[in-house]
Amino acid sequence: MSLTYRVGPLTVIAVEDAAGPFFEPRSAAFPTATPRQWAEADAFDPDALTGEGEWLLRFRSYCVRIGDGPAILIDAGIGPAGSLAADWAPVPGRLPEALAEAGVAPTDVSAIVLTHLHNDHMGWAVPRDSPFTEARVVVQQSDVDAYAASREWAGQYDLLIEPLRAAGRLEVLDGDRVLAPGVRVVPTPGHTPGHQSVWVEAGDESLLVTGDLLVHAIQVLHPDLAYSSDMDPAGARASRLRMVEQVTSRGATMAVSHLGMPFVPH
Ligand SMILES: [Zn+2]
Repeated sequence: MSLTYRVGPLTVIAVEDAAGPFFEPRSAAFPTATPRQWAEADAFDPDALTGEGEWLLRFRSYCVRIGDGPAILIDAGIGPAGSLAADWAPVPGRLPEALAEAGVAPTDVSAIVLTHLHNDHMGWAVPRDSPFTEARVVVQQSDVDAYAASREWAGQYDLLIEPLRAAGRLEVLDGDRVLAPGVRVVPTPGHTPGHQSVWVEAGDESLLVTGDLLVHAIQVLHPDLAYSSDMDPAGARASRLRMVEQVTSRGATMAVSHLGMPFVPH
């Protein structure tokens, strides 16, 4: 399923790679959330509920395009069977097919922004598994550093970072960067050290692709709530509060990977 949102001349296409239940009870993901907060979140985003009352995650990417020009893909899903996310996520994903249904061919994708290097956001960017052979892959230096240092994540480093670097397709940022007119990457650290989000802007219209800055409607409504998978909970909270304040003051829309709804209007 794909859905689109217009920001001036830019089209943002929400593309679903897969959907599946969270790997543990949702109360473990947000241990400080109250029953009242859960009820508010469920009313706000009812499509994020399983039949058992647990968290149903979407694994969603966003594709930004002007007309039928080059496309920028933000996040690359869980990937195919045998991907790095295969031990917990509902592989295979169907991102390439979903993009094709939206009129985007793999060779149209000129860049892939990875909001962070968790394996449910990079699946189709791994060169071994990727149809996006023309795309440069945009990451933050501090995530590359964190992955280089971690034996736990050696697979990601060996299968993603090194082959992309060898192919000359790795673009490592250290801070903000305008990737194309109206498409601006900003660091939002905390979920991972190099987590980044993307503003899509035209005139006074704007949309923020959040990555895992927020992961559930309960954080849209209560951005102070910590998520158990944030590597630096205090840093993630500070990034979340700062960006949600900007979204509110700009009257911006948000695009959140794991929500039931593809776009959160403001
Ligand atoms: Zn995620």
